[in-house]
Amino acid sequence: MRKIDLNNFRVATSETARDINRRIVLNLIRKHQPISRADLSRQSGLQRSTVSAITEELIAERWVTEGAVGHLPRGRKPTFLHLNGERAGIIGINIRPTGTSLVLAALDTRFLMQDSMPTWKNPSKFVNELARRVQAMMRSNPEMAYEGIGVALPGRVDLETNRLVFAPNLGWDKVDLKTPLEQATGLRVELENAANACALAEFWSGRHPESVRHLIAVTISEGIGVGMILNGQIVKGSTGLAGEFGHVTLQEDGPVCTCGNRGCWEVCGSNVAAVRHYPEAVSRGRAGRPRTAPTFEDILRLAEEGEAKACEALDYVAGALGRGLAMLLTGMAPDVIVLIGEVTRAWNRVGPIVDRVIRERVRTGAEARIVPTDPDTQPRLRGTIALVLQKHLGAPLIA
Ligand SMILES: [Zn+2]
Repeated sequence: MRKIDLNNFRVATSETARDINRRIVLNLIRKHQPISRADLSRQSGLQRSTVSAITEELIAERWVTEGAVGHLPRGRKPTFLHLNGERAGIIGINIRPTGTSLVLAALDTRFLMQDSMPTWKNPSKFVNELARRVQAMMRSNPEMAYEGIGVALPGRVDLETNRLVFAPNLGWDKVDLKTPLEQATGLRVELENAANACALAEFWSGRHPESVRHLIAVTISEGIGVGMILNGQIVKGSTGLAGEFGHVTLQEDGPVCTCGNRGCWEVCGSNVAAVRHYPEAVSRGRAGRPRTAPTFEDILRLAEEGEAKACEALDYVAGALGRGLAMLLTGMAPDVIVLIGEVTRAWNRVGPIVDRVIRERVRTGAEARIVPTDPDTQPRLRGTIALVLQKHLGAPLIA
């Protein structure tokens, strides 16, 4: 039961009922397309006349199109409805310390166009160039209507000011990305932590059963981010900082983290941890042999080839990942934990270690499906699209 928020409620009107029913119908079409009006009426329990009125409105607004004619033994032939993927474009931007990628996606989340650029250290110079790239993308598809821009960030967004806060791996503080991007493009910009965006994308993707209401996304890259959907709703905390499990100390005498703590989960379990651990392992093995610093991709490749020190570095990270995931499982008891990051490419090596640590550490009996995501599906960019899409598909705020 949700307590009514007396500072932020809307009393129920006939409009409210209509809005709720409209969103239910739109979601049913999205899930079951192609679907007839009769089936929509059966699935929703709404009267045929109500379904017809809502679908007419959705067709008029081009959210939905009518497609093929169905075949029945007798009587009127039904026409099938489906979501209009062509209705509008959504622009997604994924910012990482190592680089920024952009996508233009259709309403059905198909990627139509992609671009990438460096993430410059100077935020105002960066945002100017970013706006220029978005404008270029929009200009090259002038026939398209644009629904908005979703931005995934390696940091949190302050709920009141909409400024980027707590982004230790990016080194920007209290930066306003929203206003300059909105001014340059005329589109509404949704900023969100990358792990939150990934959690939303997974939750809306349709690849988990409808019964999944508690889903956690863990992004493992330069740092570790956690996005939580509990009871079907994203959790942000009082100021937007919820989910920073990456900066909970798991090893008191561990390495110093970018946040200033020691032994944070992310300083032990991220890509950076493997990169740091690898030369340490090498210098223990063969004294004094100079090497250029390897990237995390190098370590993945070397481990694939069976190089012992790369395997050791990955095993170290896997153990730390397992300890952090055990904390999440014990503390939150979600249905599903989705893992996003290049480390999932080595899941045949990392996965069994993670599973073992979870088995050893979780004493409560909590169980969750641990789902590694294929990096080639670009889950972070998918997250940016979900940020805009959920505005139209999510339950309306009432009471
Ligand atoms: Zn930290």
